[in-house]
Amino acid sequence: MSAADLPAVPTAKGPLLRARDLHRSFGSTPALRGAELSVDAGEIVAVMGPSGSGKSTLLHCLAGIFPPDRGEVWFDGGRLDRLSESRRTELRRTSFGFVFQFGQLVPELTVADNIALPLLFNRDDRKDAYRRADEWLTRLELDGLGGRRTGELSGGQAQRVAIARALVIHPRVLFADEPTGSLDSLTGERAMDLLTDLARAEGTTVVLVTHDARVAAYADREVMVRDGLVTSPYPVEGGR
Ligand code: ADP
Ligand code: MG
Repeated sequence: MSAADLPAVPTAKGPLLRARDLHRSFGSTPALRGAELSVDAGEIVAVMGPSGSGKSTLLHCLAGIFPPDRGEVWFDGGRLDRLSESRRTELRRTSFGFVFQFGQLVPELTVADNIALPLLFNRDDRKDAYRRADEWLTRLELDGLGGRRTGELSGGQAQRVAIARALVIHPRVLFADEPTGSLDSLTGERAMDLLTDLARAEGTTVVLVTHDARVAAYADREVMVRDGLVTSPYPVEGGR
């Protein structure tokens, strides 16, 4: 799916990703209460804030994992929140990469299988998928580990496999939710070094959720979420 398949909108060149007035509740718990965020193409943005403030919910809405109750999510000039679930899923598979706190690798599969999986989902050629998985093993300093089961890896290795798996499709946007949360600080820094170096080399836009200031320091810009609102920097009148 390409951006051309998204609903046409009368928009000048604007941010790649934009959340407008996002509201989302879980039962009677409001997680987002009018969140606003704009992210330009190629930017690395860190979303910070206390536990329970709505960071993960904001990320999930931006990434089209679930739609907001109210408000708008724009991606590349189109309304992401207006797509059907199947088209959102397809857009995610082709345009978005995800890294979570615990890599969420498939333990029954090898490291190479895990990295090739998103390509196989996108019906890429099998041989080519494994060749590209191999390249990403090298880029993440995981040479020689392709045949291992993910359970045999250290935490840092497993998280680098998760980064490789997220980047192998060359996503437009990489979403990362507490990507170093399960790692010690040195291992986490190494993973962030690789993640941000590769994202910059590929021109990938990154939205990174973290409560760790050292992790946020890798970003071009930090925003703060509190009580379901992006509170700083304050949104400019009329948006960006
Ligand atoms: P953060 O990532 O900043 O810790 P979350 O976005 O996960 O915050 O959560 C914001 C609020 O929404 C919290 O009160 C949380 O308990 C609630 N919440 C988030 N996800 C769910 C869910 N799946 N079911 C019920 N409540 C949820
Ligand atoms: Mg969270």
